[in-house]
Amino acid sequence: MAPPTDAVRVEVTDGRAAQVGSLPVRRALPTRRRRTVGAWCFVDHMGPHSFAAEGGVSVPPHPHLGLQTVTWLFDGAVLHRDSLGSEQLIRPGQLNLMTAGAGIAHSEEDPDEGGQRIHGMQLWVAQPDHTRWDEPAFEHHAELPRADLGTGTATVLVGAFGGTSSPARRDTDHVGVQLDLRPGTTVLPLEPAYEHALIVAEGSAVVADGTAGGVTVVPGSLAYVAVGAEELVLRSSMRTVALLVGGVPFDDEIAMWWNFVARSREELSDAYRGWAAGDDRFGRVPSALERVAVAPPPWLRTA
Ligand code: MN
Repeated sequence: MAPPTDAVRVEVTDGRAAQVGSLPVRRALPTRRRRTVGAWCFVDHMGPHSFAAEGGVSVPPHPHLGLQTVTWLFDGAVLHRDSLGSEQLIRPGQLNLMTAGAGIAHSEEDPDEGGQRIHGMQLWVAQPDHTRWDEPAFEHHAELPRADLGTGTATVLVGAFGGTSSPARRDTDHVGVQLDLRPGTTVLPLEPAYEHALIVAEGSAVVADGTAGGVTVVPGSLAYVAVGAEELVLRSSMRTVALLVGGVPFDDEIAMWWNFVARSREELSDAYRGWAAGDDRFGRVPSALERVAVAPPPWLRTA
């Protein structure tokens, strides 16, 4: 029998500050304590950040391997370009889903609309063995299904939440949902076969865990709930925006370096060499920006 809801154990880890180009981010995943949540292996909370008059997001062409990038905005706009020839403006509530497979390159650029403010999350999903060497792909979803939570709405980016399913491609059994909550108590249905994480973008939420005060989750931290929970009870006293991600625990031991997700250092070294040599593996991004150069991984550096 499942444990009662108020006995859900919640583990909170603090993210760390990082920088992606000129953009300050909080990296909620991976941390030393937690590498993956389902197949989700990377969560960057970007901003909220206002650029100076001339500025904007500018992430020059760089490669990816063995993962899907999930780009999701709360505010602002970003222009995506990739080596498949895709050029796609993304705005809040829309999903850019890029599947790297055996290799892709992309840039994320300022759409030049002036007065740029940016707030969003970029997440990565590790691809399973049966798709990670496939051709790369890109999907844009301008609209996604929503579910009413009583105290707000859930927008389903990927997978299924309650009875609502996203049309987005999914290579493993996982889910990603934006929660827009008004003050009140919200009961979220969870898939017991999944482990889950809650990342707050704005506001704060108290997760019921059986203790008198519950566990408060604010921007900059990640609240993890292990497999087996059937629901999550959130209390919020202000408007709160959060992402709930989850999935069947990812069994493969992954190797991550830079923008690559693989299974071994050999695979990572190989991808590094391919990018450094400018070979065809990652293609060309039709961008005016200079492609990113990177130093070799530490295990290839000589003293
Ligand atoms: Mn990228």
